[in-house]
Amino acid sequence: MEDGVAIVIDAGIGIRMTMKHLANYCLPMAAVKGILLTHDHMDHVKSVGMISRKNRIPVYATSDVFAGMMRNPCLTVKVPADLQRTFENGIQVEIGPFRIESFTVPHDASRNSGYFIETPRTTFCIMTDIGHMTDEMVGYLGKAENLVVESNYDPYMLEAGRYPRFLKDRIKGGLGHISNPQTADALAKHLTGKTKRIWLCHLSEENNHPNKAFETVSQAISAAGLSPELFVLRRRIPTGIFEW
Ligand SMILES: [Zn+2]
Ligand SMILES: [Zn+2]
Repeated sequence: MEDGVAIVIDAGIGIRMTMKHLANYCLPMAAVKGILLTHDHMDHVKSVGMISRKNRIPVYATSDVFAGMMRNPCLTVKVPADLQRTFENGIQVEIGPFRIESFTVPHDASRNSGYFIETPRTTFCIMTDIGHMTDEMVGYLGKAENLVVESNYDPYMLEAGRYPRFLKDRIKGGLGHISNPQTADALAKHLTGKTKRIWLCHLSEENNHPNKAFETVSQAISAAGLSPELFVLRRRIPTGIFEW
């Protein structure tokens, strides 16, 4: 939220929980002027149709993601046509004080976008559900003061875990998710002194542990001589408010 205007990125939990968490954060729904979608997997879009329809909030996503949601029979409430704002990768959009650009993130959805957001006070970047890091994406790693980046699995836990072979292969196959060491390596190579805070997100409940992700990434970035604050976002526990 900035100057009384809020944006929300993804809506993967139920509408009641979303409303409850926003209320706990003292974020009135009326302040939300846009919902940005990364991609059309259910853990990111479950309640976006309902929230948008009920509160008349515009939704920003690529045309591929809107088409993917229209095709998805599990998404019973669609984003109303007059609230769909097509936002292709590589272009910029302004919502109140937020200047937003999006970029492509490889993943096995209809399409996946990362976002780089500037406000008069700070910069923020989010990239999640990362099959692999591209040259374009690593350019964004060191660009924002506040960075949210996926650190999905520990390779040993994934291999030893109970997932079937095809799912293990999907996760690590380049269009699935990124491991702790891959995130750590990319950050150590491409972070800059500009980044003040990093939140690791989208940790697998099955194949990762918050301490493991934290240790792997924190060792790599301190070995690279960098010292941003590092946090791990929990899968089902709401994170407190951060102000900057
Ligand atoms: Zn996904
Ligand atoms: Zn996901």
